[in-house]
Amino acid sequence: MITLRGIPVSAGVAIGPALVLDAEGVRIPQRRVAPEQVNGEIARLHAALAAAAFEATQTQRDITARLGPQYGAIFAAHALLFEDPDFLASLDVLVRTERFSAEYAVSRAVREFVRTFESMGEGTFLAWRSADLFDIEKRILKHLLGDRREPLRDLREPVIVLARELTPSETATLDRNKVYAFATEHGGRTSHTAIMANAMDIPAVVGLGHFLNDVSSGDPVIVDGGEGVLVLDPDDEVLAHYRKARDARLIKSGVWVTERNLPSVTTDGVHIALFGNIEFPDEATACTARGAGGVGLYRTEFLYVGRDSDPSEEEHFRAYLRVIREMGEGRPVVIRTLDLGADKFVAAHGPKEPEKNPSLGVRSIRLCLRDTPLFTKQLRAILRASAFGDVRVMFPMIATLPELRKCVFLLREVMEDLREAGVAFNPNVPVGTMIEVPSAAVMANEFAREIDFFSIGTNDLIQYTVAADRTNELVADLYSPADPAVLRLIKAVVDAARTHGKGVNVCGEMSGDPLFTPLLVGLGLRQLSLAPNNLPAVKAMVRRLDVGDCERIAVEALSLESARDVTNYLLRQRQRIHPEAAGGGEE
Ligand code: PEP
Ligand code: MG
Repeated sequence: MITLRGIPVSAGVAIGPALVLDAEGVRIPQRRVAPEQVNGEIARLHAALAAAAFEATQTQRDITARLGPQYGAIFAAHALLFEDPDFLASLDVLVRTERFSAEYAVSRAVREFVRTFESMGEGTFLAWRSADLFDIEKRILKHLLGDRREPLRDLREPVIVLARELTPSETATLDRNKVYAFATEHGGRTSHTAIMANAMDIPAVVGLGHFLNDVSSGDPVIVDGGEGVLVLDPDDEVLAHYRKARDARLIKSGVWVTERNLPSVTTDGVHIALFGNIEFPDEATACTARGAGGVGLYRTEFLYVGRDSDPSEEEHFRAYLRVIREMGEGRPVVIRTLDLGADKFVAAHGPKEPEKNPSLGVRSIRLCLRDTPLFTKQLRAILRASAFGDVRVMFPMIATLPELRKCVFLLREVMEDLREAGVAFNPNVPVGTMIEVPSAAVMANEFAREIDFFSIGTNDLIQYTVAADRTNELVADLYSPADPAVLRLIKAVVDAARTHGKGVNVCGEMSGDPLFTPLLVGLGLRQLSLAPNNLPAVKAMVRRLDVGDCERIAVEALSLESARDVTNYLLRQRQRIHPEAAGGGEE
């Protein structure tokens, strides 16, 4: 038996036979063809392009019908590439002039295309990420090489898919009834693949590191998407444990609908507000269905997925309105301004030259403050939406006070413009800042004087505190919400908010993991915002907590010296407080 830990991206437990894909990887050697073979190579290439384009359009239609246009749009962008004249011309040159094989030409043209696209200027957004580009490349290569992934389409028995990496379209086309779960060697939490897995409710773990050599198709495996665990060849005891967890979750998944209206209160009567995190307006229904008290984080940069032009102010406004209407009276919607760049979507508005360290470069608020037309367009839309519900505006990635002041200044300017134009908005719209850079956490007292609320973005706060890329599985051992330095920063932020009577929330993935709920409550948090899938499990944990007990847990956790010690301590506490939650991911 081998137990592996990776990055949990979609909760749930699945047990079944493995289907191993891509163990040997697809390698495309640089190969040239003889002059008399060129025409044949061009014909092969065009046939593969046509088949791949057709397939991308099909996927777009399927996904639009199944999951909505926001998801379909990702594949619409894929389909567009097949008609791009520059892309087609470069393929032509590579085969006709350089006499490369069709396979090699595709591989090379895709990479060149990425580079050109990245350095493009003016008014267009590049909503691709490397996973999408691999996707397109693989689609074409599949038709040239023969489909190595055909097993995914004609599954007779349910399986657990194990692969080096799954692309967003491979994920989106998985048959939910035949694929119980998937686990991959590569990948990060914020990839489109992860978003798709969550939206389709397929348990998934990514970034597990090399394991495909240790498993064969047909071997029994377990995926625990809530805990980020993959077990190969489990023994009887482990199998029995996970069967129980899986069955409990299945039973519970029917129950959460009836439980969604149960109050989120501790046993000693303290209310812990639970809000949802969303990327697309459609997900607001997943929040209301699970009884969320509002949307605590709307990641608006996802408006830019799968399109090659900027959304207009009207498109921003309409998207916000949809979320506000779905949430209805009394449920706030925290709209975060654009967090483009780094591992998110590369923006043509961003730096002209590729950055050496994009996560430390012109991303997020830095990008918006350099492109005020982009920023003010969004601020106008948010303010207009504030006339229709309890909208709150939040700035991401703030590192310094002057940055925050610039944002607030721009917001006030936009208010002035709207007022002059007689456009309705809420002049008292609450303004908050994310705390996801250690400098902001350290300066939380000063920040608290200038805003209405904090939202602690632990995903980035962890990566910047321990200097470990959140998408790099090779440093995933360093990247832990249980790191004592991270806990101390969270405490400092909560204390500062309390001192100044300001709101404070945690909206990183940490708040969706019930393991951390006692600790966060003990640190003083009374509001958490999390992926809708995790709401039932976190509420179930809240309803078993006693605040005094949580405070003791927080004091003890803060006295420990390593993430491992903190994690082990919290695991013991979870076992004591809510033993059924252990190993079960979402209840
Ligand atoms: C975070 O960093 O914790 C966060 C919520 O923002 P994102 O994951 O979108 O970077
Ligand atoms: Mg962040």
